[in-house]
This record gives sequence, structure tokens and C-alpha cells, in this order.
Amino acid sequence: MKLTFLGAVQTVTGSKYLVQTARQRILVDCGLFQGLKELRERNWLPLPIEVPSLNAVILTHAHLDHSGYLPVLAKNGFRGPVYCTEATRDLCEILLPDSGHLQERDAEFANRHGYTKHKPARPLYTAADAEASLKLLRPVSFGAVHKLDDGLTVRFQRAGHILGAASVWLEEGGISLLFSGDLGRPNDPVMLDPAVAQPADYLVVESTYGNRRHERIDPELSLAEIICSTARRGGSVLIPAFAVGRTQSILYHLQRLKANRRIPDLPVYLDSPMAIDASGIFCRHLDDHKLSDSQCRSLCSIARYVRSVEESKALNGMAMPRIVISASGMATGGRAQHHPLYRLPGSRDSRRRDGEWCVGSHHPRATGACPRHSEQP
Ligand SMILES: [Zn+2]
Repeated sequence: MKLTFLGAVQTVTGSKYLVQTARQRILVDCGLFQGLKELRERNWLPLPIEVPSLNAVILTHAHLDHSGYLPVLAKNGFRGPVYCTEATRDLCEILLPDSGHLQERDAEFANRHGYTKHKPARPLYTAADAEASLKLLRPVSFGAVHKLDDGLTVRFQRAGHILGAASVWLEEGGISLLFSGDLGRPNDPVMLDPAVAQPADYLVVESTYGNRRHERIDPELSLAEIICSTARRGGSVLIPAFAVGRTQSILYHLQRLKANRRIPDLPVYLDSPMAIDASGIFCRHLDDHKLSDSQCRSLCSIARYVRSVEESKALNGMAMPRIVISASGMATGGRAQHHPLYRLPGSRDSRRRDGEWCVGSHHPRATGACPRHSEQP
């Protein structure tokens, strides 16, 4: 068995691991490089393998840095199958076409405004390319042993992290390999705990936050503090959040804070069509997290959904205090990046940026001083 790293090396995106056995070539994860331009440009480089010669792809989870290169692979002649969990399949059905759509939009924008040295600028792939690649997905269940052709055995174990996220255990000829995928925390209020890792001869483990310790803070208390202090000033709170995973966690905490009257009853707007769709998928996969059907429904019911750009723009004109959860992240095109609350906040507003709370235009990193929110709710 031979293992080659084709991404996520000295950076945290672009996860792709080529596993070659005597008879098979398998790609574990098929992620996009994201973030800085020099990283994104790597998505255009050919892979050092004959793409049609790949026998299968295995996805640990749906985040684009693990799945977003799949349309390129399909465009270049890969015909599947792509094994993943059912929830990962469902999330890929919204994430991959959206990724293609954003790339088409960016290419069109670059051509219209002349921001390109390429004539014309082209998308890495289109929404139609992404839709075509979805036909290759083959969902499999957690825990069960799956025999691929020619004796390769695969098992998906829960990894926490996001809906459908798995660690992948592979075995052939008595040699086993475990890919952790992105791992969640134990005792998360929403996600199931990562499973105890199945013993393996070799372990490939993610280390995105491997050099940091989790802060010993109560996220609900911090959230309540910032919301209460901002509401007292008559300001609004902007929370940029990943559409998949983080948004549902924030809605869960907001719903609890409201139910326990620990925050004022401010309107909550979910300003992200993808986060709205992801929340729907979250509520359909009750076996994949800790929340009950009624908890899911109350979590979704606290937010007013903002789908259209017009509705999103209308939010900016509102004078009253509010909580806005908006798309963000390594993926480009998130609405939060263009939201006036984010770029030009009022002095009474609070928004989450670079992992810290900012009040008005005060950014802690810009001054070296972090504004404290010591007021108790
Ligand atoms: Zn992830």
C-alpha cells in the first residue's frame, strides 16, 4: 500500500490523499485549495495521476476543502464511484453546485471589470459540472464494513465535526490505514461524539488546530454577554458563521438563551440561503446529532430566513437592534464580507471578526487592545 499526499500539506485546505494498492487507486477526500490566491491557483494545476485511472473516491465530509474538487475530477474523466455518508451526500448536493455558481459569478465579474490577465477568465468548474459530479455519489452507512472491488475494506466512523463527518478506516492485505478527517470535540452540545478510533497500522490525523488549546469558556455565556451589552447600546450583532455546522450551533444556543430569557427577544435573521438549506438537512438527519425533532424545529423557528439579495439589502436599512447570522468563511462569496455591519459598523454594533468580538469599528488586532464585555446579562 502506498500513500501520497496531494493536498493539505503545509496548509489546511485541498485535502487529497492517494492510496495505491496492488490493484486499486483510491483518492481519500477531494478538496479544493481555499483562501489566499496563491493557494487557490493550485486548483488549476493538474494532478500527478491519470484521473480516469482512479478506481474510487472516499469523502470524509462535505466541507469544500474536502469535497469541492470533485467536479474537476469528474470533468477530467473520473466516473466514480464516490463513497460518503448519506448526510455528506445531502450536503454536497447544496455545497458543490453553489461552489460552481460562485466560480461562474467570479469569472463573469472579472471579465466584466477587466480584473483578469486571462482572456477570458474561466470558472474552475460550473454549477452544471458540479451537478454532473453529484451523480457519482454512493452513500454508505456509519459503522458497517464495506467491501470495495478487489478486497479493499472501508469503514466510516463518526468524527463529530459536522453532519455526516466520518473518519475513514481502510484495510487491504492485513495493512490498515485510518484517516481521521476533521474531528469534532467530545461533549459538544449538538454533535455526537467522535467514535473511538478503530486500531490501524497507520494514522493520518488532521491538525488544523493542533497547536492550540480550546479556551475554557462557556460559549453561551459569552454570546449572552455580547448580545445583552450590544442591545443596551441599541446596536445590532453580526455573527459570520459557516453555513454548515456553525450556523446550526449558534441557532441552538440562541434558542436556549431566548427560552431561558437570558437575552432580550431581538429578531434573529439568517442571511444565507445555503445556511437555510443546511439547517433543513440538519433537521432531516436526526440520527446524526443529539437534538430531537422538536429541538430542531424550535432551533429553526427562531430565525427569520433571508434568501434573496433584495431581502438581505433591506436588512441594512433597519434601524432596530437585531442579530444577523450571515455566511462567511474560507469560501469566497459569503454575504457577511459585503455586509455594511461588517465593513462599516455603527459605533453601537458588535460583530465577530477574526475570531474576536469587535465593537463599532474597534478591531482588537488593530489596536492591540481587546474590548472587554464584562457586563453580565
Ligand atoms: Zn471540515
